[in-house]
Amino acid sequence: MLKVEDKLFQNRYRVDADRPHISVKDVTVCTDLCTTRQCTVCCPAGCWTHEDGKIALMTDGCLECGTCRIVCDEFKNVDWSYPRGGYGILFKFG
Ligand code: SF4
Repeated sequence: MLKVEDKLFQNRYRVDADRPHISVKDVTVCTDLCTTRQCTVCCPAGCWTHEDGKIALMTDGCLECGTCRIVCDEFKNVDWSYPRGGYGILFKFG
């Protein structure tokens, strides 16, 4: 039986260079105010990481599920939109 990670690996992603569809509105909120860092544990693609007191975001591989926007409910610090047409995730079903 395939694991979720194996299935995710079958997807393809077309990067829109220099135009990430998700960004952090104010990085000082992440570093100075947020203590729970829900984004780092809720993203199914592992796009958000926490290292050395900073939040890092890598949108390559984003599944466009919108979870990070929803879970950042205390500070609403995630600027989120869908990628431009032709870019982003290409799901492979089956
Ligand atoms: Fe992760 Fe979903 Fe947010 Fe993409 S939209 S970064 S997959 S939580």
